[in-house]
Amino acid sequence: MNDELRMFRKSVRQFIEREFVPHQACWRQQHRPDVEAWTAAGGNGLLLPDVPDEYGGGGGTFAHQAVVVEELAHAGVQFGSTIHNVVAHNIIAFGTDEQKRNWLPRMARGELVGAIAMSEPAAGSDLQGIKTTARRDGDHYVINGSKTFITNGWHAGVVCLAVKTDARAAGPRGISLIIVEPKGLSGYRVGRSLDKVGMHGQDTYELLFDDVHVPASNLLGPAEGGGFAQLMEIMSYERLAIAVAAVATSEEAVAMTTKYVKERIAFGKPLSDLQNTRFKLAECKTEARIGRVFLDDCIERFIAGGLDDTTASMAKYWLTDCECRIVDECVQLHGGYGYLAEYPIARMWTDSRVHRIWAGANEILKELIASSL
Ligand SMILES: Cc1cc2nc3c(=O)[nH]c(=O)nc-3n(C[C@H](O)[C@H](O)[C@H](O)COP(=O)(O)OP(=O)(O)OC[C@H]3O[C@@H](n4cnc5c(N)ncnc54)[C@H](O)[C@@H]3O)c2cc1C
Repeated sequence: MNDELRMFRKSVRQFIEREFVPHQACWRQQHRPDVEAWTAAGGNGLLLPDVPDEYGGGGGTFAHQAVVVEELAHAGVQFGSTIHNVVAHNIIAFGTDEQKRNWLPRMARGELVGAIAMSEPAAGSDLQGIKTTARRDGDHYVINGSKTFITNGWHAGVVCLAVKTDARAAGPRGISLIIVEPKGLSGYRVGRSLDKVGMHGQDTYELLFDDVHVPASNLLGPAEGGGFAQLMEIMSYERLAIAVAAVATSEEAVAMTTKYVKERIAFGKPLSDLQNTRFKLAECKTEARIGRVFLDDCIERFIAGGLDDTTASMAKYWLTDCECRIVDECVQLHGGYGYLAEYPIARMWTDSRVHRIWAGANEILKELIASSL
């Protein structure tokens, strides 16, 4: 933290309080943010804060992105800006200068919303098993297949799509990343809105491709077949961002529960007078503090270019497991009110659960960590 980051945090917090918090009930009901939320976020520097300013970004570091993720978590707002940023970082890492200039400024302004489409009905953890194909036809690719679970799927204006460009190649070979701009694209269809148990304010959709033609120049990376390695290279960014959300959520859960147990009276005294309540919160606060120290070390190392994939996987796996333990304990301390959707702790419980599943399920991350032993 420095003065500049503190000022950035203040403006992000004010923006979220003013522009996002009042619309939460509406977003949850319609299962997506309003389209204006994206352009407003862009106009206030919440999108692509760690992308060089020559491409329209904020010119900051991952610390700026962490501030945005933390402030969204503290406010209990679900907004797909992390995925949006992951798409931007794929373009930065593997795009040509022309591709960067084409997509990044519009993404920074929130005019194009980014989605990353890897998962398919039969291929989630086993990403190598994807079936969506892109066949080269002159100066175009012709795409066929379907994707599921796609965050920002309704709003998506730029989709980073994992496809098989060589359908016969086994394993990770033959997978490529292609950028699809869906607007007005024949054969592209947004499918079902997936009815989730949490994260109701965020759009999660199926995407369908039926002979969709995209320019061959939309291939991301120097050659076909490098997509799997590219995705793995960028994953640390997403995993670290999820770890940031996990720690911020843990801290918020402890703070809101501490306040609640001081106010709630049972057996003639506040719940906070009971030793079990104090011990449980002491355990939660300790775990959250340990998480914060580990996370801050990871962020520093990431900014310095020294965070290895194993440690990023450890951060995502351990901190999200820890988050779910803490939030569950905090629900318990709220009693029946912790189970009511109108209480923020209940929404936190259903919203945070997915952190252990996406961006590499925690079991897959343990496999990755174990492979480093
Ligand atoms: C709300 C939400 C948003 C999402 N957003 C996106 C998105 O924007 N883009 C996208 O591409 N995907 C997205 N996903 C998909 C997500 O990444 C996958 O759900 C996740 O990778 C797990 O894949 P799966 O659901 O197919 O589970 P499976 O792969 O079927 O796994 C089921 C269980 O088996 C375990 N398992 C599988 N293989 C192994 C193994 N080798 N060893 C040990 N255990 C194993 C898993 O850990 C898991 O517990 C999203 C999912 C959700 C729920």
